[in-house]
Amino acid sequence: MRTYLIAAALVLIVATAAAQTAPPPVVAPIPAPVQASVERLQKAALASDAAYDIVEGLTTEIGPRLAGSEAEAKAREWAVAMLRRNGFQNVRIEPFTIPYWERKVERATVITSNSRQNLVVVALGGSPAANVEAEVARFASMAALTDAAPESVRGKIVFIDEPTIRTQDGAGYGAGVAKRGQCGTVAAAKGAAACIIRSVGTHSHRFAHQGGTSAPRPAPFAPSAAVSPPDADQLTRLLARGPVRVKLEIAVETRANAQSGNVVGEIVGRERPDEIILIGGHLDSWDQGTGAIDDGAGVAITTAAAKLIRDLPRRPRRTIRVVLFGAEETGVHGGAAYARDHTGELAKHVVAAESDFGAREIYRMRSRFGEGALPYARAIQRALAPLRINAGDNLANGGPDVSGLRPLGVPMVELSQNGWDYFDYHHTPDDTLDKIDRAELRQNVAAYATFVYLAAEMDWDFRKAADTPAPTAR
Ligand SMILES: [Zn+2]
Repeated sequence: MRTYLIAAALVLIVATAAAQTAPPPVVAPIPAPVQASVERLQKAALASDAAYDIVEGLTTEIGPRLAGSEAEAKAREWAVAMLRRNGFQNVRIEPFTIPYWERKVERATVITSNSRQNLVVVALGGSPAANVEAEVARFASMAALTDAAPESVRGKIVFIDEPTIRTQDGAGYGAGVAKRGQCGTVAAAKGAAACIIRSVGTHSHRFAHQGGTSAPRPAPFAPSAAVSPPDADQLTRLLARGPVRVKLEIAVETRANAQSGNVVGEIVGRERPDEIILIGGHLDSWDQGTGAIDDGAGVAITTAAAKLIRDLPRRPRRTIRVVLFGAEETGVHGGAAYARDHTGELAKHVVAAESDFGAREIYRMRSRFGEGALPYARAIQRALAPLRINAGDNLANGGPDVSGLRPLGVPMVELSQNGWDYFDYHHTPDDTLDKIDRAELRQNVAAYATFVYLAAEMDWDFRKAADTPAPTAR
């Protein structure tokens, strides 16, 4: 209690001093017993491999988990058993159906006057089948293809050779991914035969980076594949020497309806069980790797954090709901299904956060709160500081499956992992367990446990609108 009073007095002093010039940087106080629980959680998280054991189990026992596949169904059963074993309540599967897409064959062969060479490619999610042989038209960027005259690409295979810029926060991927989503549509509209993009990854290995095309259907869509970065360079060098023809073959299996689902487990709150702190990751993965960093890590981090809070002597006031979303990769279907199925409950969602950016150390906490709730964001940020986490802005995205709840009024938190090398592995055959560092994973769990516990235990309303401004002159 004494610590609380001193902290409150300090806040008041700081606030009063700052009021002369700028709005006071108010930090909401955290009572001493709550702070003690935060410290206990952090210590426990930093000493536990519970999250590692979860991602090790999922990636070893199930392996790749393509959305809508038998493997994804097995992952749901695995997750139900894992959540029950960890003492979660109300464990259930919330089913939904998705359009199924699986690549069966993908081959690209360069044909020039003096050589035939294979290019390493992967068919992009949602691509139609292809069996074409055509001249290649190279573009340095997606924008260049958009600006190109249709007659310059008609009947050709367009090749977007746009690199992805390496950044800590994934901004380079955000920009680079546009070509994956749009190339098929733009190419088809201009009469091109197919689309090949330089992999939307930052790796230099000879494999291609998978991903969805997120094409607006039923607009015409050209068959689309990604080529490995070294093969993109090779193709560019060949094109510098003269015209190049490529034979592209893609075979796919599709079904209108396949089964997917979200797996849900809860730590029911002791005083306000209807108020929900929503955290989670996605259970599905692309099929080239075993989905360790994308997103076995998110499943493990959020589950392990909630389990640590469950193990406290007293449960927090509000309910912690862990959602392991299905079918994120092929169109964020799990997030959409959740928003649809829980519409009536969203007003009771206190805050949401999804971990879907790997397992490197978290370096920043961003919020998306009402202006009046910023003191709560600062209090959480202060509690995270011992974990080497900086205070971020109030523009949190929240993660793919929960960001759809943002326009519906649900406050967001984003604990940003260092993404510097994330796109070297993500969506590639190299997304495997060995890329996860145990110590960094523990720090992730400590950060989630801190934020989730404070949100569940404190009486904070993250929707709170801006306070009435304090009088500036007296
Ligand atoms: Zn993901």
